[in-house]
Amino acid sequence: MTIRFDDRVVIVTGAGNGLGRSHALQFAERGAKVVVNDFGGAADGTGGSSEPAEKVVAEIAAAGGEALAHGADVTNVAQVDDMIAKAIEKWGRIDILVNNAGILRDASFQKTSPEDFEAVVRVHLLGSAICAHAVWPHMKEAGFGRIILTASTSGVYGNFGQSGYGAAKTAMIGLMNVLTIEGAKYGIHVNTLIPGAATRMTEDLLPPAIREVMQPSAVSPLVLFMASDDGPSRAILAAGSGGYARTYILETEGIYLPPEEQTPDAIAARFDELSDKSTLHEYEDGSGEFMKFVGKAAAHLGVKLG
Ligand code: NAD
Repeated sequence: MTIRFDDRVVIVTGAGNGLGRSHALQFAERGAKVVVNDFGGAADGTGGSSEPAEKVVAEIAAAGGEALAHGADVTNVAQVDDMIAKAIEKWGRIDILVNNAGILRDASFQKTSPEDFEAVVRVHLLGSAICAHAVWPHMKEAGFGRIILTASTSGVYGNFGQSGYGAAKTAMIGLMNVLTIEGAKYGIHVNTLIPGAATRMTEDLLPPAIREVMQPSAVSPLVLFMASDDGPSRAILAAGSGGYARTYILETEGIYLPPEEQTPDAIAARFDELSDKSTLHEYEDGSGEFMKFVGKAAAHLGVKLG
């Protein structure tokens, strides 16, 4: 095994079931000390029990690994702070955070109550931000950190009945982009996972034959790669059924319209041209994108930039 996590401390949220459990087991197998976080509720986020996290800790211990169970609700700042404090107390460091905890409350948009929409956004988006915020000072001080955010095809491409979920999942990419920029000088890498696996979350969504080939254990190796010392940063990586791929956010070169031509009709007339996929380009930050437009306008208007 070349990629190892000896002396690394990993927090995996929502690790009592499904994908998180699989990530935790594979990290432990490669030497990591693992905080198995799970509040232990139902797939819709109701209820709560310490049993799922404790069971995974027992599995890790039985295989000769080291782990600690913590039942923090990732949306609760005080509980997350307590989890970080317990990990630091036991192992003195936190190297890797895998934000995996999640819930589903599927319903068509019209039938989704504001409460359900908020509950889903709260766990996925705020929960991820709260955990990242809590580990950030420790990673910054150590000059090393790996944060993995869990998105979904539901956000990137859309799935019926998952408006709040899809919105929260795509927000992971926004969070990753900014944290990557802010964390670069401290050795903090941030990446986003788009997983696909047969878990209780997808129980009602996938037919049995499909579920058979979608094992969570096939997704975790990608998470371990992202968390490794030489792993990437700012990558959106997808995994499912043994398939692995990379997702990019790209923008066309577009067109420039001088002030007297800046009309909806001119845009309509050149919509195919501004949509031309052969000119797709990736930007490293927001200013790279808007400077493309500023550059063209300045050239046309004869304005000298800087
Ligand atoms: P799962 O229901 O098996 O596991 C999710 C775990 O998160 C549960 O153990 C649950 O108790 C825990 N959790 C929920 N809310 C929590 C909270 N507030 N605090 C702490 N723990 C909490 O589901 P899964 O399929 O393993 O999902 C894991 C992650 O992967 C989720 O973020 C999910 O949205 C994402 N995802 C899964 C798939 C898939 O195909 N299974 C696809 C795309 C994204």
